[in-house]
Amino acid sequence: MIRINDILDRILDYNPEAELDVVERAYIYSARVHDGQIRLSGEPYLTHPLEVAGILTELKLDVESIAAGLLHDVIEDTHATDEEIKNMFGANIQHIVSGVTKLSKLTFQRSEERQAESIRKMILAMADDIRVVLIKLADRVHNMRTLHFHKKEQKKLDIAQETFDIYVPIASRLGIYWIKKELEDTSFKYLQPEDYERIKTMVSKDQDEREKSVDRIRNTILEKIKEAGINGEVLGRYKQFYSIYTKMVKQGLSFEEVYDIIAFRIILGTIPECYTALGVVHNTWQPIPKKFKDYIGVPKPNRYQSLHTTVIGPDGERIEIQIRTHDMDKVAKSGIAAHWSYKEGKSYDQNAGETYSWIQNLVENQANSNTPEEFMENVRIDLFPDEVYVFTPKGDVKSLPKGATPLDFAYAIHTEIGNQCTGAKVNGKLVPLTYDLKTGDTVEVIITKGHTPSQDWLSHVKTVRARSRIRHWIKSQEHERSLSLGKELCEKAFRRQSLNFNKLYTSPEMEDAAKAFGLKTVDELIINVGYGKLTPTQLVHKFKEPEKEKDESIINRLMGRSKKKKTTDGVIVRGIDDVLIKFGKCCQPVPGDPIVGYITQGQGVTIHRAGCPNALNMNPERNVSVVWDTQQKDTFPVEILVRSQDQMGLLAEITTNISKNGANIMTANTHVRDDQMYDSQFTIGVQDKDHLRRVITSLKKLKFVQSVLRITN
Ligand code: MN
Repeated sequence: MIRINDILDRILDYNPEAELDVVERAYIYSARVHDGQIRLSGEPYLTHPLEVAGILTELKLDVESIAAGLLHDVIEDTHATDEEIKNMFGANIQHIVSGVTKLSKLTFQRSEERQAESIRKMILAMADDIRVVLIKLADRVHNMRTLHFHKKEQKKLDIAQETFDIYVPIASRLGIYWIKKELEDTSFKYLQPEDYERIKTMVSKDQDEREKSVDRIRNTILEKIKEAGINGEVLGRYKQFYSIYTKMVKQGLSFEEVYDIIAFRIILGTIPECYTALGVVHNTWQPIPKKFKDYIGVPKPNRYQSLHTTVIGPDGERIEIQIRTHDMDKVAKSGIAAHWSYKEGKSYDQNAGETYSWIQNLVENQANSNTPEEFMENVRIDLFPDEVYVFTPKGDVKSLPKGATPLDFAYAIHTEIGNQCTGAKVNGKLVPLTYDLKTGDTVEVIITKGHTPSQDWLSHVKTVRARSRIRHWIKSQEHERSLSLGKELCEKAFRRQSLNFNKLYTSPEMEDAAKAFGLKTVDELIINVGYGKLTPTQLVHKFKEPEKEKDESIINRLMGRSKKKKTTDGVIVRGIDDVLIKFGKCCQPVPGDPIVGYITQGQGVTIHRAGCPNALNMNPERNVSVVWDTQQKDTFPVEILVRSQDQMGLLAEITTNISKNGANIMTANTHVRDDQMYDSQFTIGVQDKDHLRRVITSLKKLKFVQSVLRITN
């Protein structure tokens, strides 16, 4: 078990100037708040944060990371608060600890591949400080080392699967290969215990002999480079169990064939020594063509440097050899963590880390992709991330397209949540529904019972799902409105024939009528009337023979009147031509004004100007869409107020002016104001808004006229 002094010593080892105070304080604090808690192993809980901090020292991380490692579970598992951490250890450490806590709250069920990929990307994307991920990895390493203490078999399997699906690829992407390999091997052990044991047995079978062979080759290398005047370190390593397994399965190799591939690493002081050593190796054993890679001359984009070669060994086996300097070895070992280490006595550089991570992704993808298409797809995802990953308040992950809003999120949860959404909180703060969601946001939807979607939502959503749900709702509303309007129209048409529509509505005859029009239900029939696909008269004819109408049409024909001639009262209600239209007295719309229509019980449709306060107070369910009938040449009444100075012949001049502009005067009222100005109020008939504007402009030109206003109540 590691002790705090071991950790402090290690830090001083790689950074003699380190300020250890914060690490010591974090240790004392952690010990105090975790006091009394124990791990499944029966050890005090404190052993866990200590081990995690210990692993972080292996990555040679800065003191903030180590302190955060000691504190990584305090918010999750104790009464400690963010605020307290911030006050005691500063904003940086608090930020890291709260990032780790956030990741810990994620609930991942056994996940299929697609979800695993989303989660991995999300974890990387949300860690605005990559040290959060490094601590999470260290946490996982220790938890996997102690996984056998878990009592429940299923729980062990779940954790191992999650490690394999999520954390192994992350460690790999970050270039921390020792963590990748360790996590891979331990999850392999739990997930495929038989395969694991089989390989373990085979590896240990001739272990002595194999170790001798490794020793022999290592000594040969050491001797030969010494002859060339170089001192260095040569490591022979066994293949990792899991990589033996995958090579056997994927490449169909026997255990012997896989096991024969032994890997060596030669670590030297300088770059020229590396090239000299390479020459020595190639002189000793025959190199395999095309297996040589010079990553020193041409480093990988992630700054990985090494010489790679494969040669045929003394017993005919293939030997992989990597040659690099000590510095290069450090970078190769800790991957992205190297940038947070004290390697060059610098503190970490946030931007370098970000750049580094996507470059690392590319490198990894290149190695892992099977086809060029797959590689391009991965590059696309990494370079142009088009998804954001956000949390529900419970910590579940939702992935949404970039530019998605809280509305998309609400619909992603449930249609009813979407429909009743009236607001949202992101990370605890109220945001507009048009807010651009960002990866890592925690989104809480505010709903108001009975609230309904509106047309403009369509321009605020990004997902197909939200769009189609909103459309569906609008359509069903149109159905309701059409039903309501259809009933209205039928009532009137039936009444004209002395029939009671409401009584007939539920009668078997009405059902027959629906069938006669090829419709399944009576409601559908009435909706068709509302939509204007059927006229109420057509329906009435199913109940009363249209004799009178026949007579009328004969008369019309005889008199040369066309029955086709439509009278629309100047407004078209969704293509229906026989609905009673009235104009709101309150706002007196004229063609050209934006208008809205409302069904009025027993009185057809009333037209208001779009901004009319009376219209705004109407029940939106009674709203129907209406347009001006541009064919119509009626005139429409509109009230205007002309304020003018007292003047002989005033009224005559104004009325002449109005008439001159082609408008009829319907009413006129004049009274003197206290300030000796005259207010003349006219109701005039105009064709449309342009016409009205012409009248008003013309009046304003009269020299005694002070102002002309259109009156709206
Ligand atoms: Mn932990």
